[in-house]
Amino acid sequence: MSKTTSPVRCPIDQSPVVPGYIAGNLRMYRCTSCGTAFTHPMPDNAFLQKYYTEFHTGEGEDAGYSQEAKMVRKHGAQYRLVKSTTGGKIGRMLDVGCGKGFFLEIAMRDGVICEGAELSDTGVDYANTKLGVKAAHGTIESLKDHFGPESFDTVTMWGVIEHLPYPMDTLRAINYVLKPGGWLFIQTGAGNDWIDRLLPGVNQWYDPPMHLFVFSPAGLQGAMERAGFEGVDVDSWYDISTSRRWIRLIRNGASAIALRTIAELLRLKTPGFQQTRFPFASEMSAAGRKARSA
Ligand SMILES: [Zn+2]
Repeated sequence: MSKTTSPVRCPIDQSPVVPGYIAGNLRMYRCTSCGTAFTHPMPDNAFLQKYYTEFHTGEGEDAGYSQEAKMVRKHGAQYRLVKSTTGGKIGRMLDVGCGKGFFLEIAMRDGVICEGAELSDTGVDYANTKLGVKAAHGTIESLKDHFGPESFDTVTMWGVIEHLPYPMDTLRAINYVLKPGGWLFIQTGAGNDWIDRLLPGVNQWYDPPMHLFVFSPAGLQGAMERAGFEGVDVDSWYDISTSRRWIRLIRNGASAIALRTIAELLRLKTPGFQQTRFPFASEMSAAGRKARSA
């Protein structure tokens, strides 16, 4: 279809977009309303499957996503967030994109009845056999009838939504398996915040096909609300502890100012920067509850 008959629109709120970034042969656009950036056209499932298989084998079993000590520390903080926000009433919990199941293991040891959904075969195997954590293979969209409607009190999705080609479908499927009033917790990279505006598109999240979406705080809130969640609270300065928040702020700020200065001195304009990614960025977390009435 040509651009005149089918203009690119924001997948969250259908607003017009402006061209954003180019990574390889993938393009990202930014919504003029909510500020979320997304890949378009979206790579198909065959491409993504191949990409992730190569990513996992390339990194080896014990690298990449499997930096266990770091993950356990992060998951401990995430579990404390869930426990305090729900007032200890976690109920039956599902972790979407559970990986090898380390987050679920922490919850299980604390007496929570929980399950996971995961696309990676090795992740599901590890969770089931090594950790004794119940994990099902597939996307939440494909597993929602396996779990059934209104079957969970809490759903978590840590560092997953930015990798998904159709996050609105995923959020609706999560809403389906949650009981009315049930909680959804999300953690993802933050875009369109102060650091992103200071150095547009330079932070680590703009690297499709690894990250297909870079949500803004407003975009993440809007996406959750449109999928049937209410009372959505976004913490756009998320980290695992208060001291880590400050360290990240200072590191991000110093890097941004240094890079901005270099860019000004060299008179580099944004196009020259568009294909360079730096390992600094903000993260955010969000919590909301499934609306009690339709
Ligand atoms: Zn939008």
